[in-house]
Amino acid sequence: MKIGLMGGTFDPIHIGHLLAAQSVCEELGLDEVWFMPANVPPHKERPVGAAPHQRLEMVRLAIEGHDRFRTTAVELEKGGVSYSIETVLLLRNQYPGHDFYYIIGADMVRYLPKWVRIDELTGLVTFVGLQRPGYEAGLDGLPQHIRAAVRLASMPQIELSSTLIRERKAAGLPVRYMVPDRVNHYIEVNRLYET
Ligand code: ATP
Ligand code: MG
Repeated sequence: MKIGLMGGTFDPIHIGHLLAAQSVCEELGLDEVWFMPANVPPHKERPVGAAPHQRLEMVRLAIEGHDRFRTTAVELEKGGVSYSIETVLLLRNQYPGHDFYYIIGADMVRYLPKWVRIDELTGLVTFVGLQRPGYEAGLDGLPQHIRAAVRLASMPQIELSSTLIRERKAAGLPVRYMVPDRVNHYIEVNRLYET
C-alpha cells in the first residue's frame, strides 16, 4: 500500500493540513494518509499550547468519517523529541510492505538538510512538498541527493497556520471555518488557546 505520512504538531489541526493531505492523496493515488501528531517537535522552542492528548483528539475529530485518513499516536506513545527518522524506522519495521510518502509544507522543504539523519531518511521515504503561502517550495537550494527524494504536489493555497489560530483565540476572535466544526467545538469547550 501507498501510505502518506502527515507529521506535525497539529496545535490545532486546521483546514490547511486537511486539504494538503487530501490533495496529495488524490494526486499520488495514496491508499491512506496517516496523521502523526508529534510529541515534542525537534524544531520548535515554544511550549505547545494544547496537551498532547488534546492535539491527538482534535486530529481524530477532524478526520472522523474519512475512509482513507487515519490517526497514529506512534510519536506520542514513544515520547521525547519526535525525530522523523525514528518514527519511519519504526513504521517500516511494523509495515514492511508499505511505501511511505512523507508530506511536508514548503516551510519544511528548505530545512530538509537539517533534519536528523536525513541521508538515511531519503532512502526510506519519498518526500512530497507542497506550496504554502509565504514560502517558496523550490528545490533549487537542496543538495542533489536530497532533491532526488522530493517530489512536488499541488493544493489550493490556504493562508492559515496553527499559530494564526492560536493568536485569534488569544485575541477572542472566532476560528470557525478555519478548523472543522468539531474541532472548533472542542477548542471552545476546553477553552484552548484563550491566554
Ligand atoms: P505552527 O504555526 O504551530 O507551526 P502549522 O500551521 O505550521 O503550525 P504544523 O503542525 O507545524 O502546522 O505543520 C504540519 C505540516 O503541515 C507541516 O509540514 C506544514 O508545512 C504543513 N502545513 C501547515 N499548514 C499548511 C498550509 N496552510 N498549507 C500547506 N501546508 C501546511
Ligand atoms: Mg509549522
